[in-house]
Amino acid sequence: MKFFSYTHDEKKFYIGAEIKKENYNLTEALDIYQKSKGVTKKFSIQFLQMLIELGYCSKSIIDQIFNNPWVQSKIKKLTITSEFKYSIPVPRPSKIICLGRNYQAHIKELAHKVPDEPILFSKASSTLIAHNEEIIIPSWLEGRIDHEAELAVIIGKIGKNIPEDEALNYLAGYTIINDVTARDMQKKDLKNSNPWFRSKSLDTFSPLGPFVVPADEIDDPHNLNIKLKLNNKIRQNATTADMIFKIPAIIAYISKYMTLQPGDIIATGTPEGVSEIKDGDNIEITISKLGVLKNTVKKEK
Ligand code: MG
Repeated sequence: MKFFSYTHDEKKFYIGAEIKKENYNLTEALDIYQKSKGVTKKFSIQFLQMLIELGYCSKSIIDQIFNNPWVQSKIKKLTITSEFKYSIPVPRPSKIICLGRNYQAHIKELAHKVPDEPILFSKASSTLIAHNEEIIIPSWLEGRIDHEAELAVIIGKIGKNIPEDEALNYLAGYTIINDVTARDMQKKDLKNSNPWFRSKSLDTFSPLGPFVVPADEIDDPHNLNIKLKLNNKIRQNATTADMIFKIPAIIAYISKYMTLQPGDIIATGTPEGVSEIKDGDNIEITISKLGVLKNTVKKEK
């Protein structure tokens, strides 16, 4: 089961659900379900972020809705037309927290040291873009820009000081993120002992999605293949088994410092193979069970 956010035209947003390779309008299914329970409809759940914040991003809850006889008799399969467009699954998270240097081989390629505790940094939420949207390199920006394919986790419930053995219960689901980085700018800032926030936070530098797979659909998040193709050539090909700090340890660590909120995005670090992206490039990231995230690169004139 996968969830996604989409529009049919510029104005209307919906949540979609892919169940056994068929697509459904989950917003409509939830409306039908509410009606079957005699609930007077106040509003429709149009955004995936809303579904996550309500705590409904779960296979077991959605199964219950689709097993309802009313829903079964009334819901139709979703037809993907030319107007269909994926939108950002979680467009306004309270924060995006990223891990730096979380894969051995990537640390080696950038000639860094293996950290003894997680390295955290943040990206502005205005970096987020959807599947099929363009990564824009501003005309004034010089130097190397890199792709970084990563597994992202989405927080499902509020938590502080989360114990490692309970950490996975705080997840709504998993998705794909491309932690696009202005590498030369980052190196310059590091060299001058400045934060490297700006190199990570240019508009469009965080393609996300298109799917969120609920946490109860993934038995082991440390057994997934991450693959990135740049113009159809494989650049990154690794397994999440090679993470230095595993997801429960990451969540426990972050939540010692800050309260995690539903919808928060944690990018778990990139494996080896980061490389330069340029105007006109096509980037395709595949993570097993999570689908494919595609974006193109455009240099502003
Ligand atoms: Mg990264």
